Amino acid sequence: MSQPPLIDPFERQITYLRVSVTDRCDFRCVYCMSEDMTFLPKPDILTLEELERLCGAFVGLGVRNLRLTGGEPLVRRNIMSLIRGLGRHIETGALDELTLTTNGSQLGKYANEMFDAGMRRVNVSLDTLDDAKFAELTRWGRLPQVLAGIDAARKAGLKIKINMVALRGVNEHEFDKVIEWCGREGFDLTMIEVMPMGEVDGEMRVEQYLPLSVVRSRLAERWTLTDSTHRTGGPARYVTVEETGGRLGFITPLTHNFCESCNRVRLTCTGTLYMCLGQDDAADLRAPLRASDDNGQLVAAIRQAITAKPEGHDFVIDRRVKTAAVARPMSLTGG
Ligand code: SAM
Repeated sequence: MSQPPLIDPFERQITYLRVSVTDRCDFRCVYCMSEDMTFLPKPDILTLEELERLCGAFVGLGVRNLRLTGGEPLVRRNIMSLIRGLGRHIETGALDELTLTTNGSQLGKYANEMFDAGMRRVNVSLDTLDDAKFAELTRWGRLPQVLAGIDAARKAGLKIKINMVALRGVNEHEFDKVIEWCGREGFDLTMIEVMPMGEVDGEMRVEQYLPLSVVRSRLAERWTLTDSTHRTGGPARYVTVEETGGRLGFITPLTHNFCESCNRVRLTCTGTLYMCLGQDDAADLRAPLRASDDNGQLVAAIRQAITAKPEGHDFVIDRRVKTAAVARPMSLTGG
């Protein structure tokens, strides 16, 4: 890194960038998108070359960890050219890690190339191991395709973490089964609280919300959970499940505010930088990016944006407040 690092007003150094490379997805998970979701107009979306240049600017400013997300990152046309381009920062040592969050549907096609480009880990979102429930939850997804994708990723040498959103009355009876499966397969597992994002039916969100504090105490009746110091640079806090030897993480934006150590910012596919997942503070990087081939204006805009990073978010899911805390869906900024 040749330039001073990015430090926010709360003395947190920004070393982690999450990039939503598309807002489109081949699934329509019920808690994430409506079935007739309106997507961003194509001309607003940055080209892959522009995304690569933007990421490069962040790497030059001390970002060590890049995660691609979406929408579904692997449905973006020619996505491998971006992944290969970013993989070069791994080769030079400028970047510690290039990772991806995916629904798994396209892993069968891309896993080998991803590994060759320098990726070593992927997060796969999987909320149920039941065929019918999977189809119902994702609307357009099919479980066998995702399981085949996960298998391809493992064979390619990628380490796999499963992300499971805890949904009351939907998948809560499956937690033990998924813990067993992950333990057997050697996958880490992270459970996530459903967050109030996007215009999904508010009544449904209240019904679905299941605090992980409750989940954890229920799991502790069946499993021996030992606190772990393991960290991935993300917000999860981990325990070891002694019976399986597997690692289990909890992402608890609602029951425990995880902002104090936040080291990350999020970039959308239109070049908007969000300084916090749960706040609307944002900066446009597309205009300075396109204004010149030189990165001067862009870097100045990034530095300016970081001075406005808020201390934290304040998600609340409440029967009295049925609107989303932030109106933009998770698919825009990426989970
Ligand atoms: N398509 C990719 C995937 O499925 O992982 C990446 C994008 S997806 C928006 C990222 C993660 O956000 C998924 O694990 C999804 O379950 C989660 N997610 C979406 N909406 C959410 C919400 N309202 N609360 C909590 N997690 C959510």
